[in-house]
Amino acid sequence: MPDKIRLILMSCCAPCSCGAIKQLHDGEIPCIDDFIVMFFNPNIYPDSEYQKRLNEQIKYCEKLGVKYVIGDYDHNAWRAHVAGLENEPERGPRCSKCFAYRFCYAREYAKQHGFNAIASVFGVSRHKDQTQVDAAACAVCDDIQYLAIDWDEKLRQQINRESEFYRQNYCGCEFSIRK
Ligand code: SF4
Repeated sequence: MPDKIRLILMSCCAPCSCGAIKQLHDGEIPCIDDFIVMFFNPNIYPDSEYQKRLNEQIKYCEKLGVKYVIGDYDHNAWRAHVAGLENEPERGPRCSKCFAYRFCYAREYAKQHGFNAIASVFGVSRHKDQTQVDAAACAVCDDIQYLAIDWDEKLRQQINRESEFYRQNYCGCEFSIRK
């Protein structure tokens, strides 16, 4: 474990990340010296949906005065990465590739910008499998440490009750839109 942890928190949306951001902001997670929120979600479809989630993320970060970075949005590149897995169910192999794609981006960003650890909120939704998220992260995080933090779910729910976040009803890609 390095002396100082500079963390990238990967977020998919404000409703999932609000509790984690608040905990980090309040210094509730020991040993984290500095953190930034990363919104890198080229999986989200369509563009209008991406923009809504991004706007909510920015609003929440700015409300708390938390630093954030917005990754590139290239949905076609993401589609190419998961080609052949379009019909797989949520929690299946397409999702593992989707998580890995986003973690790889964060890993490279970390190396270029002096961060040494990555965590995410990709597993907090009840539709997600935390074990799958952790496995995807561990497979790609080499000298950048992956921290599998167990976020405070009660706090997340409380902030959601008190906030008026835009809330989507599907994970993000076109294949996860519930009919
Ligand atoms: S369902 Fe969600 S995690 Fe799975 S591939 Fe689609 S956007 Fe990615």
